Amino acid sequence: MNLHVTAELDGPITTNPVVREDVVRLVDLKRRFGATPALDGVSLTVQKGEILGIIGRSGAGKSTLIRCLNGLERPDSGEVFIEAREISRLGERDLQPLRRRIGMVFQHFNLLSAKTVEENVALPLKIEGRPRAERLARAAELLQLVGLSEKAQAYPASLSGGQKQRVGIARALAARPALLLSDEATSALDPETTRSILALLKDINARLGLTILLITHEMEVIRSIADRVAVIDAGRIVEEGAVWQVFANPKSEITRSLLGAIRPQLPPEIASRLAAGEGAETILRIDVAGQAAHGPLLSDLSAAVPGPFRLVHGGIDHVQRQPVGTLFLSVPGTDAAHLAAVIAFLKDRDARVEVLGHVASPV
Ligand code: ADP
Repeated sequence: MNLHVTAELDGPITTNPVVREDVVRLVDLKRRFGATPALDGVSLTVQKGEILGIIGRSGAGKSTLIRCLNGLERPDSGEVFIEAREISRLGERDLQPLRRRIGMVFQHFNLLSAKTVEENVALPLKIEGRPRAERLARAAELLQLVGLSEKAQAYPASLSGGQKQRVGIARALAARPALLLSDEATSALDPETTRSILALLKDINARLGLTILLITHEMEVIRSIADRVAVIDAGRIVEEGAVWQVFANPKSEITRSLLGAIRPQLPPEIASRLAAGEGAETILRIDVAGQAAHGPLLSDLSAAVPGPFRLVHGGIDHVQRQPVGTLFLSVPGTDAAHLAAVIAFLKDRDARVEVLGHVASPV
């Protein structure tokens, strides 16, 4: 632990109103490359102990955001607070100790191939000039935490991708950072290994109270472990909130499209038959989440509004232990009053209802 830095960071803070519990606070961050606004007024906070996911497509501004966070890029305007210290105008010398407050995990692991696993993990402490005994003790402790004690003397080339990333995580934690910044850490891994790495991050978050900022382009990563999500597009945060709420009620088109693959969609064979106007059956999309998804919605609908309906597709997922469901119902007949009664009942139960269209014959 770098005592000098800790003392400095824990000193009196008199000039800004940052709450001590914000590990990161970005205020109206702007960075432009020629005509391209890579960051166009980004404000967000990462609170102590939370896992915040930032998701966006390629070119959205994620890398620029990371570079502003670790001081590799200077914003044109705005402020970057790391543990209440504004870093965006600091010189290289002052930045060095603050950078160590952020442990980075990378997509391609960035391990040194000529060094053993133990040496890789201990490297940040060597850079800090910590004594060898302390470095080895810390490396052993961290390798145990990530389940790789038996690989201490192995070289990276002999490890699987998942094992390499475990070493990367152990190394990122060596200097006891305030924030773990994961930059597409599972993007190069297969789905099963991805799950085990995400489970490890979640476990470390829970056990050590570690604050994690996850940068990803995959909603599945957000879904698995994040508490909160911020969606970035064209350098702006277009949506932000608790993960289950954003999943249940995405506000922006980009969020809906990023969610596309992991939320139920109308099967193509039904979607291709949808038409406007009248038809033998009306297809409804019903989104329901949280408290509203706990009740017996369909049996209550059946009791309250006589007349047939059929469930044609859908499912209930659990995100942050909250039910988040999407159901596709087919309501036969052309009775507009009946359809209106179905929709009114569902809306009364806090479901979101969308008439997708009509099909000419039963699906
Ligand atoms: P992401 O990491 O989400 O893919 P980036 O932060 O790399 O997004 O890029 C955001 C936008 O800024 C893109 O349009 C990209 O082309 C542009 N950009 C990023 N870095 C530079 C640079 N050094 N020079 C010129 N344009 C850049």
